[in-house]
Parts: sequence; structure tokens; C-alpha cells
Amino acid sequence: MRKNIVAGNWKMNKTLDEGLALAKDVNELLKGTDLKCDVILGTPFIHLASVAKVVDPSKIAISAQNCADKEAGAYTGEVSAAMVKSTGASYVILGHSERRAYYHETPEILKTKVQLALKNGLKVIFCVGEVLEEREQGVYFDVVKAQIESSLFELTADEFAHIVLAYEPVWAIGTGKTATPAQAQEMHAFIRKTVADKYGAEVADNTTILYGGSANPGNAKELFANPDVDGGLIGGASLKPNDFKAVIDAFN
Ligand code: PEP
Repeated sequence: MRKNIVAGNWKMNKTLDEGLALAKDVNELLKGTDLKCDVILGTPFIHLASVAKVVDPSKIAISAQNCADKEAGAYTGEVSAAMVKSTGASYVILGHSERRAYYHETPEILKTKVQLALKNGLKVIFCVGEVLEEREQGVYFDVVKAQIESSLFELTADEFAHIVLAYEPVWAIGTGKTATPAQAQEMHAFIRKTVADKYGAEVADNTTILYGGSANPGNAKELFANPDVDGGLIGGASLKPNDFKAVIDAFN
């Protein structure tokens, strides 16, 4: 059975002290709770090792938000998948629309990053999603399918088992404009079918597909109630411990 997951994406927010305080607050809020989903904190690189030491690993996993497309060596400023893994992180977010748009990460680069992440024992939260123009032109299924095929479909079925997909319509990220539950379900079902066509029904059924884009305590329950929405990738609301906890509670 696939897992339900609520993953926070802190993006480029919080100093080290602030990030540690946030992680401790989330950890405290989850103490004694009977979680109905896995919880992941996606922190900046510099927080990973410290955050890993202050949270209960039976309740909270740690994720990076990126890793290098090279193994090691003379790549000033880069952080490899092996380095991420060595901090105690078990996930890495790859293919976020902000990295595709602002840092020109192509499907080819992302394919390499995914392979290196898996090779180094990380699970990947792989983001896909269309921009507003693509939705308005009615090509959003094609766009999302191409993103999945071009970066992931050279993986074996065993490798694909370590992929979590996140559907994040770019027009909904940080805009306060959420996809409707029906729009999310429609795309998630399409993504699952795309995976099933390639890897078979069992692999598709076991694949966790998260929704991301202005998810918050007010809309999470309705979004997560859909049969193909297995949780959320949460940006803004993950920076406020009580809001993040309320999104997690949407599974209760
Ligand atoms: C994100 O960037 O992954 C995200 C979903 O952001 P927000 O929740 O702020 O829209």
C-alpha cells in the first residue's frame, strides 16, 4: 500500500537558529500523536544535519531541496547526493518549478540528479506541473506526462519504487490560488495511469502522489480526501508549526 505523506518545503527561508526552532516546534507538536501519514521536513542544505539531530526520526524524516548533477569534485558551491545522505536526510526534492525556471534545470539534468540521488540511497520527491498558460491552452496533461517520461522513465521498476511524485501546478505555488479538489484528482489519476502504462498497475498503485500549491489548513482535508491524492508538498504553511500540524491533522 502506498504511503500518505505531508512534506514541508521551507525553500530559502530561516536562519539556522530559526530553522532549528521550527523543527523543534513541529517535533513537539507531533509528540504523543498517532500519525496517519509520514512527515518530512524539506530544509535548506545548511539545516539538514542539525535538524536531523533534534527531531524524532520515528516521526519525522528530513529532505534536501536539491542536489548536484555530479558525483563529486571541482564544482564550487554544489552539494552532492552523497553529502545530503551523510547528514541523515533520507529524501531530496527534485524538479521543483522554481529550480526549473530560475536555475534552468532541464529534464536531462533532472534525470541525472534523480539517478545520483537513488544511487546514494535517497528517495526522491519529484515535482511536476504546468504553468498557467499551459493550463489555459489545455495542454497540461501533455506537459506533465512529458516531465515524468523525460526524467524518470529510464528507471527500473525497482528504482521507481523510491520515487514520490508531487503534482504542483505552477499557477498555484505561493499564489494562494489552489487547484480545486476536482482539478487535483483529475491530474493525479492521470499521473497514476501514466505510471501504470509504463510500470504496471501494482507499481502505480504503490506510488505516492502529493499535491502542492497553496495547500493549507483550510483546504487540505478536501484535497487529501481524493482517492489519488496521497498528501501534500507544503510551502508557505510549512513555515508555521501550527499550520503545518493542522495540514498533517487533515489525515485524522
Ligand atoms: C511548493 O513550493 O512546493 C509549494 C507548494 O508552495 P506553497 O505551498 O507556498 O504554494
